Amino acid sequence: MAKTPRLLPTNPRLFRAQVLRSERATPSMHRVTITGDDLHEFAYMGFDHWFRLFLPLPHQDEFRLPELDGTKWWPPFLAIPEDVRPHCANYTVAAFRRATPATAAEMDIDFVVHTNADGELDGRAALWACAARPGDRLAILDQGCIFDCPDDATEVLVVAEETGLPGVVGIAASLPRDAVGHIIQEVPTAADVRELDAPAGVTVTWIVRDDARGAHDGHAVPGAAALEELRRHTPADDRGYAFVVGESRLATEGRRHLHRAGLPKSRITFSGFWKHEARETVDA
Ligand SMILES: Cc1cc2nc3c(=O)[nH]c(=O)nc-3n(C[C@H](O)[C@H](O)[C@H](O)COP(=O)(O)OP(=O)(O)OC[C@H]3O[C@@H](n4cnc5c(N)ncnc54)[C@H](O)[C@@H]3O)c2cc1C
Repeated sequence: MAKTPRLLPTNPRLFRAQVLRSERATPSMHRVTITGDDLHEFAYMGFDHWFRLFLPLPHQDEFRLPELDGTKWWPPFLAIPEDVRPHCANYTVAAFRRATPATAAEMDIDFVVHTNADGELDGRAALWACAARPGDRLAILDQGCIFDCPDDATEVLVVAEETGLPGVVGIAASLPRDAVGHIIQEVPTAADVRELDAPAGVTVTWIVRDDARGAHDGHAVPGAAALEELRRHTPADDRGYAFVVGESRLATEGRRHLHRAGLPKSRITFSGFWKHEARETVDA
């Protein structure tokens, strides 16, 4: 992931949780709803609030994870013997429902259902999500938000492919209601398009890649179509703010375009969430 200014909590906290429900939300997104004894203490900030997700791998009978609170969680995580070390991946809060007197706090996590070159389900986290059952154990380490819009921004531009969609849903709903700007959101199929609670002054452009037409129409690499749309866009002035996330090329080329078009680098948050070029199938 590219270096970006992040609103990291001062003492990132680990929450142990279990699966409540697991269901296909749209053709390309699998939703897992979790709860946990102390999840009501998760300080949900809206926007693209994200976390490190720890999951057992298929060969691990038990979920073993020491306490990993704080910013220095990586060395103790790596010190766990490899055969019992859980898998770690980055995910975003798709929705958070606070506890009520009658119900426990719940969090939705939306996993992109992606496939390998043979069309089989791929990715350790997506494989786990699609097989998740009520009671399955996991943990999340709070990482705060990446979206970091200056107060004086004249407009906001948000661009993502499907891995950024959970964050874009949160950003749209969290933006001040008088915000102006544009969201460009790419999704694999028309049935993945959903309602965004964006301010009236923020226009939303959905780009449907339409994977169903076949993988070789030039738009098949996630993010390429959103990048093409972004390149048609010129910032209104040099005081806007842009947030570009998803497949690595969308993030880096998107930033390059916006900077050349006049937006200072300090006003562009970009993050490569994964790399298409580095794709390799994982063992189920
Ligand atoms: C801050 C942040 C927030 C994120 N939030 C979300 C989120 O809410 N939902 C979400 O689905 N993803 C999200 N991502 C992206 C996610 O972390 C990556 O897709 C990651 O590779 C998935 O982890 P994994 O362990 O399953 O992948 P791995 O098992 O390491 O990946 C296996 C293979 O699949 C390829 N791959 C990974 N993702 C995709 C994809 N989307 N399409 C096609 N091929 C892929 C990889 O290149 C790799 O070769 C987020 C990333 C970041 C940095």
